[in-house]
Amino acid sequence: MSEYVVVRPVWRRFEERFLERAVAWVRSGGHAVVARADGSHWLYLGVDERGRITKASLWSILALDQERRSKVKDGPAKGLVTSRVEPHAVEAALDWCERDSIHRKPTRKIELDCLDCAACCHDANVILYESDLVRFRKGGRPELTTPTYIKRARDGKVTLRFLKDGRCQNLAPDNKCYVYDVRPHNCRVFPAGTEACLAARESTLKIRDGAPMSA
Ligand code: SF4
Ligand code: SF4
Repeated sequence: MSEYVVVRPVWRRFEERFLERAVAWVRSGGHAVVARADGSHWLYLGVDERGRITKASLWSILALDQERRSKVKDGPAKGLVTSRVEPHAVEAALDWCERDSIHRKPTRKIELDCLDCAACCHDANVILYESDLVRFRKGGRPELTTPTYIKRARDGKVTLRFLKDGRCQNLAPDNKCYVYDVRPHNCRVFPAGTEACLAARESTLKIRDGAPMSA
């Protein structure tokens, strides 16, 4: 499937004294950045009906290049996921709040067409697992395991090798994937409509939240 209608969380910044408003925003589907009096910023993110972090929440944390998170154990935010925004990520989190300040509701519906886009197949860091290499071989594409197509870092990490212009070598001119049937696990699970997707569209296509970015 290449066309998606996604309901994504809208980001909002709150002062710590308005924590209850922030919690209500998150419980309605949004993402909150709470600014504490000590100058730190904290994410408050949603969980599903079983109390597990939602996919949108997880990918928002990952898009900020951090992973640590915990469950709030008491107080108004009990049950939500929280994470201190690390110093390197504060600017990005606040930028998303600014971007979303024009949206009044905690969620926003967006339409995406991956065949019109392919932004996540450019300049990406696609980590490969052993199971991907096995699938390439079993799928009759052993050449995909060679240095022409993959890079091995000193720490053992294996990634797809992209072309100098940033394009994945497996991306066809019509934005289809030449190796779709055996494509890497991380290409299969990359979720349309998350902050990781929006960030890829912004850096590759210069499209911000559906609108062309001004120069
Ligand atoms: S960046 Fe998002 S919309 Fe574009 S191809 Fe990837 S998942 Fe689809
Ligand atoms: S392998 Fe296919 S889906 Fe993955 S980045 Fe390359 S073109 Fe995109």
